[in-house]
Amino acid sequence: PSSLHPTANNIDQLAGHFPLCMSNLHTTLRQTGHLKHFGRLQYTLFLKGMGLSLEDCIAFWRRSFRGMTDDKFNKEYKYNIRHAYGEVGGDANRRGRGYSPYSCQKLLTEALPSVGQTHGCPYRSFTADNLVALLQNTGVRDGEVLNGVREDLARQRYHVACNRIFEHTHKKEIKRVKDDGLWGPAELDTILHPNTYFKRSFMLKH
Ligand code: SF4
Repeated sequence: PSSLHPTANNIDQLAGHFPLCMSNLHTTLRQTGHLKHFGRLQYTLFLKGMGLSLEDCIAFWRRSFRGMTDDKFNKEYKYNIRHAYGEVGGDANRRGRGYSPYSCQKLLTEALPSVGQTHGCPYRSFTADNLVALLQNTGVRDGEVLNGVREDLARQRYHVACNRIFEHTHKKEIKRVKDDGLWGPAELDTILHPNTYFKRSFMLKH
């Protein structure tokens, strides 16, 4: 298997392994050339959790913002990225490691995004119809799976819906690693963190 080497240049390819909470941010960033504060923070910490270096993270954001001067970027945005990585600010404990990437638990309990914001967990913040449309856009067409997602949403079991989609979109690969005895229940337990989703998807497909 090829090893994971995230850089400022390959995030678009790696985005194919992102859970919806992060692919939604990535798509919005690509479409609009911008993200609001909480979305930037959520995405920056996720990129850090993937192993993207601070230098590459700064380069990634610099290139992703459209219509922004270097001066504005350096003054208003760079500091927050360095802060998230723990290079500046924070108390002594946090210095050097910064903030932890957000877990599903955190994303599923924080305040809901308001109009124009894209952070949080789409399984919770989108209506069922919009979420199903979003999933269909990503290529999920299986009626049974989509109905299962609707039921999960009605019961507010958002992370169950997310795991259902993961299992569906990695069905072949999961069968293979199980049949070959490479992965057992421990490697395939319920996903509770966006970075686990990404890492498991990457490992299964490489
Ligand atoms: Fe992201 Fe977790 Fe929501 Fe899945 S359940 S979209 S990983 S926050």
